[in-house]
Amino acid sequence: MHVLLVGAGLSGAVIGRCLAEQGHKITIVDGRPHIGGNCHTQRDDKTGVMVHVYGPHIFHTDDEEVWNYVTSFARFQPYKHRVMTTSQEAVYSLPINLHTINQFYGKTLRPDEARAFLETQADTSITDPQSFEEQALRFVGPAFYEAFFKGYTEKQWGCSPTDLPAAILKRLPVRFNYDDNYFFHRFQGMPEQGYTPMIEAILDHPGITVHLDTMFDPAAISDYDHVFYSGPLDGYFDYRLGRLGYRTLDFERFTDQGDYQGCAVMNYGDRDTPYTRITEHKHFSPWESHEGTVCYREYSRECGPADIPYYPIRLVKEKALLADYVALAEATPRITFVGRLGTYRYLDMDVTIREALDTARMFLTHATEGSAM
Ligand code: FAD
Ligand code: UDP
Repeated sequence: MHVLLVGAGLSGAVIGRCLAEQGHKITIVDGRPHIGGNCHTQRDDKTGVMVHVYGPHIFHTDDEEVWNYVTSFARFQPYKHRVMTTSQEAVYSLPINLHTINQFYGKTLRPDEARAFLETQADTSITDPQSFEEQALRFVGPAFYEAFFKGYTEKQWGCSPTDLPAAILKRLPVRFNYDDNYFFHRFQGMPEQGYTPMIEAILDHPGITVHLDTMFDPAAISDYDHVFYSGPLDGYFDYRLGRLGYRTLDFERFTDQGDYQGCAVMNYGDRDTPYTRITEHKHFSPWESHEGTVCYREYSRECGPADIPYYPIRLVKEKALLADYVALAEATPRITFVGRLGTYRYLDMDVTIREALDTARMFLTHATEGSAM
């Protein structure tokens, strides 16, 4: 079969590789001048620092097959992600851990004491937290909520935490020990030469042809037996039902000498600081040494038609619109919508790869049986 993949990010690359290995002919188009989608990395010309062009990307997973998959295409270096936050004129460690609790409250609590103490701070009248704010007040109490979450979340999402689901905060653990690893997955690391060479290796198969700077042309669909589309779902249908809401990011790049902030990511919890965080890219490659440094100040705002969509908003209104687009997608033959934009979900890289592998395998099963997907 001749299969078209729209998008040379992780979704397109993994599906393309899987199908090419089974003898299918794969054409991939991407509107950008590079492969890798939002995981794209590039060395800065002047400093030599590896830059995560579309924002910080840390690989972490519990999925052993996915870990074996990525490490078969790139050498990974151990990397532990530590995040700090500046708030109310002090610097604390995130996610909230025993150090954060003791420092914030000026105490020397041990784990069980800290657990009991935090419960005295929490609003226990909230029995079934629904919103982000209720989740925070119930589990960490108003002081931590104000210092670390309220202002940051208002900047990040452009709305009140009372309007956001509790699930967004549930992504962050609270730890009653001194473990300050931002993630808790079994496998965590950073591709030594960045993500783009890893994705290049995935795409390196004689059955795959990639065309960069090439937007998808709907008129070309009839040239292919099947299409996998990892672009925006609403965009495919020309936004005919309206636009699915996204937040976009602006990165204000600056360079310096030496070590600007001493860590990879410094969040800013106060509402008065207009940016959400500063990323210092050299700290993603601690095994390298560079005199110069490259940093991004990150600002979040509503995504306009010409902006890059980053975070799907997925509130009630968007979910209803999504359901209508999904119905349209299901009624469209010979095309499968994949990846973070094609399914309008926030997907970590490991989940993106897992779904891409599963989708490709399902397609191969249908292709063998001669049934439609
Ligand atoms: P994308 O990477 O978006 O690729 C889609 C590609 O399709 C793009 O290259 C685009 O140019 C192309 N395209 C779209 N429409 C068209 C069209 N019409 N014609 C031609 N080409 C088109 N995950 C983690 O695991 N760890 C992290 O630390 C992490 N950090 C993140 C930080 C940020 C700020 C964001 C937004 C995401 C982060 N992620 C992280 C998630 C990660 O970026 C995604 O899992 C991954 O990019 C999904 O890959 P994809 O191929 O589905 O989409
Ligand atoms: N968050 C916050 N303060 C922080 C870090 C995170 O309020 O210092 C909130 C914010 O709303 C964010 C959510 O917690 O969207 C989940 O955090 P995560 O680090 O997973 O953020 P994301 O991946 O969305 O950038």
